Amino acid sequence: MATITLDTVRKVYFGNFEAVKGVSIDIADGEFIVLVGPSGCGKSTLLRMIAGLETITTGEVKIGDRVVNDLDPADRDIAMVFQNYALYPHMTVHGNLAYGLKNRRMPKQEIAERVAEAARMLQLEPYLDRKPRALSGGQRQRVAMGRAIVRQPEAFLFDEPLSNLDAKLRVSMRGEIRQLQRRLGVTSVYVTHDQLEAMTLADRLVVLNGGKIEQIGTPLEVYHSPASTFVASFIGSPAMNLIEATVEAGEIRVGQSRLGPCPMPDVRGEVTVGVRAEDLRPAALGGTGIPVRVTYVEELGAQRLVHGQIEGQPLTMALSPAIPLADEMTVAFDASALHVFDKATGERFA
Ligand code: ATP
Repeated sequence: MATITLDTVRKVYFGNFEAVKGVSIDIADGEFIVLVGPSGCGKSTLLRMIAGLETITTGEVKIGDRVVNDLDPADRDIAMVFQNYALYPHMTVHGNLAYGLKNRRMPKQEIAERVAEAARMLQLEPYLDRKPRALSGGQRQRVAMGRAIVRQPEAFLFDEPLSNLDAKLRVSMRGEIRQLQRRLGVTSVYVTHDQLEAMTLADRLVVLNGGKIEQIGTPLEVYHSPASTFVASFIGSPAMNLIEATVEAGEIRVGQSRLGPCPMPDVRGEVTVGVRAEDLRPAALGGTGIPVRVTYVEELGAQRLVHGQIEGQPLTMALSPAIPLADEMTVAFDASALHVFDKATGERFA
């Protein structure tokens, strides 16, 4: 096991397109880091630079104490798990698990032990003699995991390993990966564009946007204190409501509605105010609140997403189905539920 250190890592493709713009991350020994962001944000490029599958334009990648910039992938002592599993179709599960070890001329006895241990951990024992085409998607994914485990590497790198599985299987495999990683304690870097997968797997999330880090933090830090409107709208489902507002005399206003006092005394002028759908509730009878015109409702069973408008701007509320609906509702929230961002830069006011 090892730490992984990225120091001002950049990737420029074809001499002019900067896909990764100076990223620095210190990954602790045994930590599970998830790189998350929309398509094209540079997360796969970053992972591939750690793996050695992509050259590093400038900056430094260290695994443990070794600078690995110029090392071949095979010499980095990492194991990568891909989205397409990359299994050998003509080999059995046993053959697939043992292949990398045989290649390294490991003694037969040790290969047998490592394969047996991985097969036990991943519940692959009944399938050892099957070829990949006779396995389900989830089983194939487990074989891919097994191939990484038998190598006992310093680190695991995962590139969207669950995206070919159906939704239900994704949830159960995600739990398996997390438990396995905890048990083995192997430093892991995992790439996904799925914010829920990121939230549930990560010790710390790295939210990327346009090749740069928007925020690094635990899932709850990022959820409760998003550093920017980008993070606020990317992490959490439904996305945080972002409303154009103004601060006048210490008060946040949206058109004719007053949202409450601005927590930052020095802020004035135009701002973007964020409030999560789950932090909104109907005002108590006769109590104060803001008027919302309901436009449509989505029933989720345990919850109901009520979409409406506040002063012409969209607003979504997550309400209990027990709450009666009306075309016009008065909505309340705690002052502490408001997030205030600089309208020009999108950055959170401290
Ligand atoms: P996705 O989730 O779609 O895979 P990503 O966040 O992993 O996206 P990357 O694959 O890292 O993004 O790509 C980052 C940017 O670099 C994109 O704009 C992409 O078009 C560009 N890019 C990736 N590979 C190359 C390449 N070999 N040559 C030129 N540009 C590339």
